[in-house]
Amino acid sequence: MSGNLFIISAPSGAGKTSLVQRLLVINSGIRLSISYTTRLPRPGEVNGREYHFVSRDEFVQMSERGDFLESAEVYGNLYGTSESWINSQLHEGSDILLEIDWQGAAQVRRLFPEAISIFILPPSIEALHTRLSGRRQDSEEVIANRMAAAREDISHVSEFDYVIINDKLDEALRQLDAVVIAARQQRKRQMVRYQDLINQLQSLE
Ligand code: 5GP
Repeated sequence: MSGNLFIISAPSGAGKTSLVQRLLVINSGIRLSISYTTRLPRPGEVNGREYHFVSRDEFVQMSERGDFLESAEVYGNLYGTSESWINSQLHEGSDILLEIDWQGAAQVRRLFPEAISIFILPPSIEALHTRLSGRRQDSEEVIANRMAAAREDISHVSEFDYVIINDKLDEALRQLDAVVIAARQQRKRQMVRYQDLINQLQSLE
């Protein structure tokens, strides 16, 4: 594998999606994997942009064909990452980003031990509660269920390489960008990328 594989996970309400969208704008050369899901599109979502939206039957068929690098059920819907897309991108040397849950992250880590995983956290319980309260008509029970699901996600934080607290979006973005930039300068990556230069420099009399 010559590109870097980044995994970003978070409990819902941590602001992961807007952070990732901002990262893609400021850090060219990183490509986002578009997952397959059986969830219905939300208003404004476009098939092939946020997700490839498929029926449960289609998803199961793809899964049986071995099309997914990883897949998981999250909040009652199925989600999966295309294996062929990932392999072709990594082969070309592109850095890729998977925005997936902790179950998918665990599966990818087993296949690619060099994958760099990042967990995004909200700055406080109050902030999480506010972000999960969503529309005003949501009942306390619905919000309590979301909080419990977030707590379950957060219990997996120790499986990740990096943790970013998303308090101020600009600061969290700077930290995320720093992780990506640092990963690119790892010696083993640079030895491949700059093999000729390093050979020349080493052969100087
Ligand atoms: P949402 O439906 O709100 O976009 O995403 C719900 C959850 O599913 C999020 O935690 C998101 O990271 C996760 N997710 C999205 N795509 C995938 C995927 O391909 N695989 C896995 N394992 N989780 C995914």
